[in-house]
Amino acid sequence: MNQLLSDRILNMATSATLAMAAKTRELKGEGKDIIGLSLGEPDFNTPDFIKDAAKQAIDENYNSYTPVDGYGELKKAIITKFKRDNKLSYKPSQIVVSTGAKQCLANVALVLLNKGDEVILPCPYWVSYADIVKLSEGTPVEVKTSIEKDFKMTPAQLEAAITSNTKMIWFSSPCNPSGSVYSEQELRALADVLQKHPKIYVVSDEIYEHINYGSGHASMAQFEDMYDRTITVNGVSKAFAMTGWRIGYLGAPEAIARACNKMQGQITSGANCIAQRAVITALEAPPSKVQYMIGEFKARRDLMLNLLSEIDGFSYNVPQGAFYVFPDVSSLFGKTFNGVKINNATDFSLFLLEDALVATVTGDAFGNPNCIRISYAASQKQIIEAVERIKKSLS
Ligand code: PMP
Ligand code: GLU
Repeated sequence: MNQLLSDRILNMATSATLAMAAKTRELKGEGKDIIGLSLGEPDFNTPDFIKDAAKQAIDENYNSYTPVDGYGELKKAIITKFKRDNKLSYKPSQIVVSTGAKQCLANVALVLLNKGDEVILPCPYWVSYADIVKLSEGTPVEVKTSIEKDFKMTPAQLEAAITSNTKMIWFSSPCNPSGSVYSEQELRALADVLQKHPKIYVVSDEIYEHINYGSGHASMAQFEDMYDRTITVNGVSKAFAMTGWRIGYLGAPEAIARACNKMQGQITSGANCIAQRAVITALEAPPSKVQYMIGEFKARRDLMLNLLSEIDGFSYNVPQGAFYVFPDVSSLFGKTFNGVKINNATDFSLFLLEDALVATVTGDAFGNPNCIRISYAASQKQIIEAVERIKKSLS
């Protein structure tokens, strides 16, 4: 009874991405010349047309509490976006705007999971999924995927992971951290498995939708038979370079959306008013308006892969979206570099931070202890310098 903090928080892992970002900031503060490739954050500025909308909202005195689930005009813009980009039809009562896609995910877990409910997470998964599920008393069930299969879960793997306790499947496509993109046919094949299990829901995290270098984006909810049991999560952090503005949104079956509304009514009262006004403008703009950033991310991906191919011991898939590479570095485990023995991915990531002054994130945080995640949301100059430093540390 002398314990200050709850079991809930004591059992929760610290977000590895944010921890690495904090460590990078700290070391930079001490004057160390760290190249930060840990955080998944565009290094672009928020486009001017969005900033102007925010300034206008301040001048127009948008300062009051907003509707808990978001301004009506914003929901309208989201509905139009879902129709325009994803061919999904939602009613306003199916939309909830939250403080980042992260809060959308937390809302969904908190309103759908009971103790012991299982959530299937194809590995590697985004860092916060497992802890959000655990916070909500659910049980994460990891499904290991391989580089050979482009880090994608196969229908047979999905089938094998399903039990009578399975409540949901969570995945991102494009995937953070692997950059894999599920094609329409691949999603359909997973949906076919789910036909035999009508009570299982899907959380489709599409926050990297526009950062796609290949054959286009597909949504699980676009299949008629999946629409009523898919929660589509999206947000503006990535494609619009708006991470700090903290706006995400979801489209879901009405009962789930209303429950998320109730949940955040007790927790945040809704998302920031100025940011919501700015996001109306962002979403109403054609996606082509932010294409310059996507083009640059693609050039950086190609550069990063070219450079990494010169390092022995890194094997990786070719990411088709998002802005991460997720190399398997397990062939380096057991070796010693500059006097430091590398036993696992966490050791390796720390070694890169300390010896090469390059910040990455251990794959452990994403459910794959053989890999590290390298973000290429950094300038080409920084990417060249970072890989040069890594090479030097390993030589
Ligand atoms: N999902 C994925 C896959 C992510 O990479 C992130 C990281 N930002 C989020 C959700 C959360 O995004 P937001 O900034 O909107 O909370
Ligand atoms: N999603 C980004 C990442 O994976 C930002 C950090 C976070 O939200 O945890 O690095």
